[in-house]
Amino acid sequence: MKVALITGASRGIGRATAERFARGGYNLALVSRSEESLNRVKEELSGYGVDILIFPADVSDFKRAQEVVDTTIKEMGRIDVLVNNAGTTLDKFLLRTTEEDWDRIIDINLKSVFNYSKAASRYMLKQKSGVIINVSSVVGLIGNAGQASYAASKAGIIAFTKSLAKELGSRNIRVVAVAPGFIETDLTSNLPQDIKDYYFQQIALRRFGKPKDVAGVIYFLASEDANYITGQTIIVDGGMI
Ligand code: NAP
Repeated sequence: MKVALITGASRGIGRATAERFARGGYNLALVSRSEESLNRVKEELSGYGVDILIFPADVSDFKRAQEVVDTTIKEMGRIDVLVNNAGTTLDKFLLRTTEEDWDRIIDINLKSVFNYSKAASRYMLKQKSGVIINVSSVVGLIGNAGQASYAASKAGIIAFTKSLAKELGSRNIRVVAVAPGFIETDLTSNLPQDIKDYYFQQIALRRFGKPKDVAGVIYFLASEDANYITGQTIIVDGGMI
């Protein structure tokens, strides 16, 4: 059976992605900081009859990423798909952004992608196959006032994706990114109503995205149907940008 390792799988887009891959018959390795939330997701997905490993971990921890990947290989034998989804946001103008803020956002959003891609690609190279899917953001493409650190981390993911695709393509490993627009999750739930209204007006489809809207695209990108796509960033924003 194929195996997907998904970070940030306890809520939002990551949880919906875990469910989509479970529905597709993948065994799962799920990562987030909260063990309690991961246990709940494991319980909720138990009806799909797939094996699920859970790993409480902070994705910015380099050594822990290695442990998570090594244990997944030991227990499940392979990693076919890595989804680097875990991330967090920061809404602060530059003058208010501290050095700690910057380091935290870059560590959680960008260093994490390095951590897990490096650990998993070692095994994908041996397997001679694999797909790495990185969750960026439309903000990484167009920028956003008050989100310079977040946008920089998400733009970094896009450049990382393009480069790694070129590095690993000849070894039958694809690397792609998705750039969601406004998706209804915990990440966006606390935004002030006037900001939500502003974004809403930009969306051609006149609705906010659901986590499953992104999960479906991630699943497609991991599939054989996407066999000839690598290095690209697929925008999933309902026509926002
Ligand atoms: P969410 O609902 O807040 O979920 C974030 C997930 O990441 C949770 O499972 C969280 O679990 C995990 N996580 C956060 N920090 C972590 C850390 N340091 N180590 C391990 N896990 C961590 O957010 P979401 O909206 O689904 O976002 C998922 C991804 O999509 C993020 O990369 C985000 O930047 C991107 N994105 C979202 C939107 C949007 O509109 N929602 C738009 C563009 C891009 P724990 O709290 O248990 O650790």
